[in-house]
Amino acid sequence: MSLIVQKFGGSSVRDAQRIKGVAAIIAETYLGGNDVIVVLSAQGDTTDDLLAKAEEINDHPSKREMDMLLSAGEQVSVALCAMALESMGLPCVSLTAWQVGIHTNSVHREARIKNIDSERIRMELDQHRIVLVAGFQGIDRKGDITTLGRGGSDTSAVALAAAFRADLCQIYTDVDGIYTTDPRIVPNARKLKEISYDEMLELASQGAQVLHNRSVELAKKFRVDLEVLSSLERKPGTKVKEVTKVEKTNIAGVAKDVTLARVALVGLQHNPGVAFQVFDLLGKHGINVDIILQSIGREDTKDISFTIHRKDLEECEHILNEHKETLKFDHIETDSGIGKVSVVGVGLMNNCGVAAKMFEALYEAGINIQMINTSEIRVSVLLDEEDVNLAVRAIHAKFFDEV
Ligand code: ASP
Ligand code: MG
Repeated sequence: MSLIVQKFGGSSVRDAQRIKGVAAIIAETYLGGNDVIVVLSAQGDTTDDLLAKAEEINDHPSKREMDMLLSAGEQVSVALCAMALESMGLPCVSLTAWQVGIHTNSVHREARIKNIDSERIRMELDQHRIVLVAGFQGIDRKGDITTLGRGGSDTSAVALAAAFRADLCQIYTDVDGIYTTDPRIVPNARKLKEISYDEMLELASQGAQVLHNRSVELAKKFRVDLEVLSSLERKPGTKVKEVTKVEKTNIAGVAKDVTLARVALVGLQHNPGVAFQVFDLLGKHGINVDIILQSIGREDTKDISFTIHRKDLEECEHILNEHKETLKFDHIETDSGIGKVSVVGVGLMNNCGVAAKMFEALYEAGINIQMINTSEIRVSVLLDEEDVNLAVRAIHAKFFDEV
């Protein structure tokens, strides 16, 4: 007998019919003799609808109350799915994160799971019940509800799989696996049979929307075998695991991210500690910084440009302006019309031609690059947002169509 964690995303539980479909998949797994822990997202656009409701009432609601609100969607899903399983005569129980004991830090809206209590779920599994857990949520030390960031149900699932040493963690979604790029932009994108944790991690953090990047981090750390597959068609998906056969092409995929904004602090003093002050300040406010570029300006000043999530732009500007006296910069420039395109592949490690090939594709498409950033297995460029899709097509064609 195996323990399998199955996570179903919002589109997979969109309405009654889809929930019944999901219940059938769960039932098949359970009746096949497995223990099953199910993690669900909120139905369809529920989370967005809740965000809109909040906005109607208060432009700047506290993050604590936002979590109270946003976590509601997942509770609806698990209860409804449990009812579907009940109607099939299957023993099951739905639980919130509070009931399970999914403990997180107190960073509302971006909380991190610290540990998960095992007693309740163990007891339910011992009674041969299917356990349905509300994804995306946790509780902090005070017992307040937290959420794990948009798309966080994947992370709930992987964390549960790690905590209970599940044999497999299946992430069911409305696409049938991981593609070399977004098939909506590039129709001949290829589905990957498998991908390594590191590649998936880079793709996920570079904007490929299939998996929450924290979930891949956890999967890698705890060696959780992951599979991404469709809840609508029963066919093999993409396996995410430690080592994969290196394919002929030396990149795994092309990702895009259009959720970024660029901030430039112009005219900072060219002294030790300045970068530390800036990023320490942002870090303390929970603002994540992505690409950083420092350049020397005029007369012993320097400029530091960096990218952040667009949703943090207003807060970031506010914080920096508040500390203008101590940070001693001249002014701030911002741009929220930017995008990032990345190529990812373990093959990049020993092949410096990859970056050149990517830049060549952009040059041929007449696209200007604003910033460049690399890791061992990734090259990212920052561009005008309107060039992003063109760039993805040009780069994908360069790597996958040309031989
Ligand atoms: N419902 C949450 C969201 O839309 C979490 C999730 O779906 O994973 O972000
Ligand atoms: Mg998702």
